[in-house]
Amino acid sequence: MKKHKLGLSTRTFIILISLSAVFLLVTVLIQSTFFNSFFARTKKKEINEAMTSVITCISYDDDSLQEQCENVALYYNVCILITDESMNTIAFSEGAADCPLARMDSNALRLMYENARNNGGAYSKEENRSDPLFPPNKMQDDPHVDRHDPGQRTSYFKVSIVSTDSGLSRVIFVNAQITPVRNMTDSLRIQLSVLSLVMLILSFVLSFIYSRQLSKPIIEMNNEADKLARGDFDVHFEQESGSRELDELGEKLNHAARELSKVDALRTELIANVSHDLRTPLTLITGYSEMMRDLPGENNPENLNVIIDESKRLSQIVNDVLDVSKYQSGSVTLDKSRFCLTDEILAITERISAFTSANGYIFDFDYSEKAYVLADRTAISRVIYNLVSNAINYTDSEKKSFEIKQTIEAGTVRIDIIDHGKGISQEELPYVFDRYYRSNDTHIRSVLGTGLGLSIVKSILSAHDARFGVTSSPGNGSDFWFSLETCE
Ligand code: ADP
Repeated sequence: MKKHKLGLSTRTFIILISLSAVFLLVTVLIQSTFFNSFFARTKKKEINEAMTSVITCISYDDDSLQEQCENVALYYNVCILITDESMNTIAFSEGAADCPLARMDSNALRLMYENARNNGGAYSKEENRSDPLFPPNKMQDDPHVDRHDPGQRTSYFKVSIVSTDSGLSRVIFVNAQITPVRNMTDSLRIQLSVLSLVMLILSFVLSFIYSRQLSKPIIEMNNEADKLARGDFDVHFEQESGSRELDELGEKLNHAARELSKVDALRTELIANVSHDLRTPLTLITGYSEMMRDLPGENNPENLNVIIDESKRLSQIVNDVLDVSKYQSGSVTLDKSRFCLTDEILAITERISAFTSANGYIFDFDYSEKAYVLADRTAISRVIYNLVSNAINYTDSEKKSFEIKQTIEAGTVRIDIIDHGKGISQEELPYVFDRYYRSNDTHIRSVLGTGLGLSIVKSILSAHDARFGVTSSPGNGSDFWFSLETCE
């Protein structure tokens, strides 16, 4: 494990805090960079609107013009001056403090008027002036003043020449500062600083809570996974973490832990079963061999047959274990060919008939026509053989009967192997095809098997993409079935 790496909660915390810091920095930068130009644009718009409003008032007589002029100036926070062509004041209103217009002499006004006249009756200009509230000498004395700011403020002038109803010319000057006053920017800066600080503290606290919340279920899962890796299957992965992906992960890990514990239990059981099944024939083989060696009268074909039968049983157990590993590791390639499934079943029933009739079993193969399939002949024979063996093994000692049923429908052939034996309980039914599974019931000696027969059946049928299953009820027997596609 790489110990030097940061934990999830620390990483999340750092990322969230960095994001908040970047966000705040960008906000502050945007505010400080664009505030002035935004303010100037808004103010210019107001000056233009004020000019339009004054132009509509020009039809009023000169006496009421002053009142109208004041209304507009106060409304838009601008200074308005209306003169005749000789720059004699007709109306003046100072709707905003600090308008250079209020202090301008007639020459300067005339210059702007001339420009407007030469420009078709309208003229506008921007002018930089020293901030009278912060003259350069005052700035130098005041340690709180930003020395890089020269104390310059920009003023915007708009001039229009209009004619009254009686044909007289009127010159309208509208003016206001388009640079925000220093105390406005100062208060904004303080506001921003306080806001940034509050936001930073808030994001610090929220990031801390959120990162803890996010990492808590993962840390818990990690601890449980550690236990699982050590072979402790009594684990529980959180499924109420509040996030969908983590809940799903928890659910899957719980499922995996359950499956692992099942496999582990089955493996332990297999070892017990296999060792039990190996020990019994081995004991018999040794016992009979010693008896034949030591007691000359016991050296007869019956005793030899016991040894041969038990040896066969041994090799069957070993073969089953090998086969299931081969099929489940996927190292077996199917050798598919077209063959008659019905004939294959008939051949198997023929082979077992000597055994079944000798032991009093009755069985029936029910089919109406021959079915041909494209499959691995040996493997499918193995499936049928295993299922038939189980039907014989698990059949009731009183009702020694079973049947094989073949039905062809819509391009598929279905084989049912039905016995009237002890059946399988609903709790055990989902596990019968599992590797190593054997019913909890104690096995009678006559029952051969390693708990691998159905696992081999499942592997072969899955490799053929065949459908298969089982229906069973305790006391009434079982119906193991599979279906394959038919071919002409
Ligand atoms: P085994 O070698 O033990 O027969 P299988 O994989 O063939 O192993 O079967 C697994 C388990 O399923 C058996 O131990 C048995 O409990 C149950 N089983 C299989 N076939 C039948 C059946 N026809 N009737 C009742 N139980 C069955």
